[in-house]
Amino acid sequence: MTSASASFLIDVRQLRLEDARALLGHGEQVLPDPMANATVYLQSVIDKLSELSLKDPLTGLSNRRYFQNVLEREIEMVTRSGEPALLLMLDIDHFKRVNDTHGHPVGDQVLQTVAQALSDCVRPMDTVARFGGEEFVIILPNCQGHYGQQVAERLREAVSQLSLTLACGDQLKVTISIGGAYAPRWVRSTPELWLERADLELYRAKSEGRNRVCIEPQPILAVSAEEKNLLFGPLALGDPAWIESIANDSSAQGFGAASSNLN
Ligand code: GH3
Ligand code: MG
Ligand code: MG
Repeated sequence: MTSASASFLIDVRQLRLEDARALLGHGEQVLPDPMANATVYLQSVIDKLSELSLKDPLTGLSNRRYFQNVLEREIEMVTRSGEPALLLMLDIDHFKRVNDTHGHPVGDQVLQTVAQALSDCVRPMDTVARFGGEEFVIILPNCQGHYGQQVAERLREAVSQLSLTLACGDQLKVTISIGGAYAPRWVRSTPELWLERADLELYRAKSEGRNRVCIEPQPILAVSAEEKNLLFGPLALGDPAWIESIANDSSAQGFGAASSNLN
């Protein structure tokens, strides 16, 4: 059955959409008129449900489920390309005190303000997510040279500059601690191990006094000529005839790109 013929079989009035409509009925989730165009209506319900299932409702950031998907995808990328990717874990310092002193709604406002500041500091290709409570995570793909340390310092500084005006007129300031770890290159790792290493660095940042960045040093990638040869054969040794022969073979292009990262 083709998708075109299947579309004639769907009668939107026979679908049980009460729960979906109830979920989307809150906030600004305006749905189009189902009688005007059933396909547009259904597509809109699917899009909005997908968005709801991937976002944290308080901050609007990606949620943990979405983050987990990106983390797994990034490990695949790093395994194949060898490009450095950095995972940052960020935790608001002494956040319990904020709730205890000013109340939960002010705590929520702090979470929203910090989330916005974090999003403003990174590239569109980076993923900022709420990991849970007052903890955030950021995945930075293709994080070359000193960029990781610089961006983490920029994030820490941006949060320390925030100032929330309370109802009583007082100004509330917070700080964050940041831990970071790079994904191991050319080796298949697991999301759990990567998270654990970033979390260890976060723990270090907390125990060294908070409002600071600790990033695990990136291992120096030393691949010998012999190892390169084993990985990439004549391409790594620069055999021009062989390179030319694969240059005409479009299926080999990705392979060539990968080898250049070893140079
Ligand atoms: P540390 O510097 O060691 O991280 O101390 P902390 O006080 O930030 O850490 P702790 O884990 O003791 O407290 C975290 C607090 O975050 C406790 C919890 O009530 C609060 N929290 C978690 N989720 C939310 C939320 O959605 N809204 C608000 N307002 N508070 C939250
Ligand atoms: Mg915490
Ligand atoms: Mg905390």
